[in-house]
Amino acid sequence: MYCTGGIRCEKASAYMLHKGFKNVFHLEGGIINYARQAKELDLEPKFIGKNFVFDNRLGERITEDVIAKCHQCGMPCDTHTNCLNDSCHLLFIQCSSCAEKFDGCCSQDCKDTKHLPVERQKELRQGLDNGQKIFNKSKQRLRPRLDEMNGL
Ligand SMILES: [Zn+2]
Ligand SMILES: [Zn+2]
Repeated sequence: MYCTGGIRCEKASAYMLHKGFKNVFHLEGGIINYARQAKELDLEPKFIGKNFVFDNRLGERITEDVIAKCHQCGMPCDTHTNCLNDSCHLLFIQCSSCAEKFDGCCSQDCKDTKHLPVERQKELRQGLDNGQKIFNKSKQRLRPRLDEMNGL
């Protein structure tokens, strides 16, 4: 288990100690420092793949392994992106061919919205709840379809 913010790992380790686990350790300097040290010492890192980070890079490659999948087509991919529809901005994993197909958006619905005039987009954005969203292939069905909305 790892986290990059120093919050979840603190909670998780305290919880594990509370539950009676004895061998609970923290990596000094966190996962980023660990990756750096492993590289310097030419050790094979136990962490494989990409480390998600909260700045614009959205990820720091540790090894060349790709252990995630594109959320849209399921192909091996570990590139995080934010949906380019301004009223969505969902954080999800998207391969380059899906990025092209969906114009950087998480769904056909968002792609359609992205191509509407900006004023119309602002109208549609009102009242939208963008709380804790996760990628969901069926989300288009939870909202009225754009063509229905346009027909009103
Ligand atoms: Zn894809
Ligand atoms: Zn979206």
